[in-house]
Amino acid sequence: MSAQTKIIRTTSEGLFEKAKTYFPGGVNSPVRAFKSVEGSPLFIKKGDGCMIWDEDDNEFIDFCCSWGPLILGHNHPAVYTKIVAALQNGASFGAPTRLENELAELILSRNPFIDKIRFTSSGTEAVMSALRLARGYTGRDKIIKFEGCYHGHSDALLVKAGSGLVTFGESSSAGVPEHVAMDTLVLPLNDIDALKKCISEHKGEIACAIIEPIPANNGLLLQEKTFLLALREICTENGILLFFDEVISGFRVAFSGAAEYYGIKPDLVTYGKIIGGGLPVGAYGASKEIMACVSPDGPVYQAGTLSGNPVAMAAGIAQLTECAKPGFYEDQAERTTYFVSIINTHAKSKGYNFELVTVGSIFWLSFDGKKSIHKADEINPDMTGFKNLHRELLNRGVYLGPSGYEVGFVSSAHSKEILEKAAGIFCECLDVIF
Ligand SMILES: *Cc1c(COP(=O)(O)O)cnc(C)c1O
Repeated sequence: MSAQTKIIRTTSEGLFEKAKTYFPGGVNSPVRAFKSVEGSPLFIKKGDGCMIWDEDDNEFIDFCCSWGPLILGHNHPAVYTKIVAALQNGASFGAPTRLENELAELILSRNPFIDKIRFTSSGTEAVMSALRLARGYTGRDKIIKFEGCYHGHSDALLVKAGSGLVTFGESSSAGVPEHVAMDTLVLPLNDIDALKKCISEHKGEIACAIIEPIPANNGLLLQEKTFLLALREICTENGILLFFDEVISGFRVAFSGAAEYYGIKPDLVTYGKIIGGGLPVGAYGASKEIMACVSPDGPVYQAGTLSGNPVAMAAGIAQLTECAKPGFYEDQAERTTYFVSIINTHAKSKGYNFELVTVGSIFWLSFDGKKSIHKADEINPDMTGFKNLHRELLNRGVYLGPSGYEVGFVSSAHSKEILEKAAGIFCECLDVIF
């Protein structure tokens, strides 16, 4: 194919200049700023199915899918119709509605891991609340977190591994008090020995171990099942709650998330993203006994003016109804595997140091050559390859989230034909950059 011209971004650039006068960095969430790739962010005007259009009318096949929530693609007719129907009755009441029951029933009737759920308005809020519940239930203050997992931006979880051999965390953001970070013990993923050592040093002090069972916010760091099983066992032995943060993996790799995918029962679980059908919803859930601690039944306080918002519930009901249909996840995985294997076969035949790592309908671009990466420090920090590929893909109508640490998502709207076309473009771009 002939050399590609750069896409025109004049309108987006103008909007971004204006946005910079309103918002820090011109955005309302940092990764959107395109800082780690070339150019300035595209302002999106419209989405339909697996396609999006920016303000300059460039058209893209979208693999960001709002960072995961849109497992049915943009503007799915069932979701759209249900949202509009709910909205006709009003946007919010601050009183219970039937729709909350419906979404809870849809989830709990299919989920063998939790008895009760509480809806929040974001993943961060769900995790923050569940963490409080873990501490309230166990009467312990310390928590274990794994390096390379993201759990939203609450203080206790904006913590990274400290220097040297200590497990005490160091805050990864200004404004997080040191004494808060001190209660977060940070361990490497996929390392049973480090886990055992930490727990023996903090006997009786640890409320929970929080993990993304499928870590997908910092590369795709698939864990060995033996590690997850050991984690389950060690938590049980030590009265530590196993906390699966399934904000990204829930309803993505299987209806009941990674817990179902691996067949491992967590004590606490959080959801977000897909559960809201593109509207702001999060949730946390656990057994009856643990959930009995939550206000107004118990002493752990947690609330929300817009929690269980009827329009957001409606979107979640419509989306999860589609996800619950037989064969939905098999079909998602099948189309994703098809897409990924075209690209990987091409990269391998050409000897490129590149592969797509995948699970379910998630994929991640690894420029590492290493076959399986389980830990955060195994990721190649040089993101030049990603930056170049991102640019070439954009110029040819394929949109990926603007960071090499983020994963891509395939939705049910990505047909086999579209995926074949996108895979062809990927291969062409790989030829250009390598
Ligand atoms: C996205 C994400 C969060 C944060 O959810 P927000 O809705 O962005 O607050 C927390 N945990 C995991 C695993 C996530 O993927």
